[in-house]
Amino acid sequence: MNVNKLERRGAQKKKELKKFLKRIEKKSPKGLLKTNAEVAVETWAEVDCLACANCCKKMTPTFKKAEVKRIATHLGLSYKEYFDKYLEVDQDNGDIVNKSTPCQHLNMKDHKCDVYELRPADCRLFPHFQRKDFNDVSYVIAENIPRCPATLVFVEKLQERLMS
Ligand code: SF4
Ligand code: SF4
Repeated sequence: MNVNKLERRGAQKKKELKKFLKRIEKKSPKGLLKTNAEVAVETWAEVDCLACANCCKKMTPTFKKAEVKRIATHLGLSYKEYFDKYLEVDQDNGDIVNKSTPCQHLNMKDHKCDVYELRPADCRLFPHFQRKDFNDVSYVIAENIPRCPATLVFVEKLQERLMS
């Protein structure tokens, strides 16, 4: 999988695919969630996250307090110690986020997460393909098209499916 090539394609196609997502947000096609599930399976057959890791390298998840506590405890740290070392509050929306990228839990050699079983729900749900509130988060999905190859492939396939 050539991540750079997919990023370039994502940048080129973002506008067109964003318009398509807007259209389905306004008039949601029948059976969208089922279609999303099928398209997600096709997407994951093509995309290898371990060859990419852009989400962990370039974005930050949002953490719930209980998730911070869980990870801190796992590492033998107090909530405050972990928070002060790695996290901050986003002044725009009050979310708890990483201070810097890449994420402190990403192994840069093999692109694996060292707290995989304990990772925040935000990481588990990313890249949002099968969320019940898909249309409510489609603006986030649109923004991710140039930086998440899976999102690009998923939206392209969805467009192909719904427009044919
Ligand atoms: S979810 Fe997207 S950005 Fe994250 S590793 Fe997979 S393809 Fe890359
Ligand atoms: S916690 Fe793990 S999955 Fe989540 S951003 Fe960090 S490295 Fe990636």
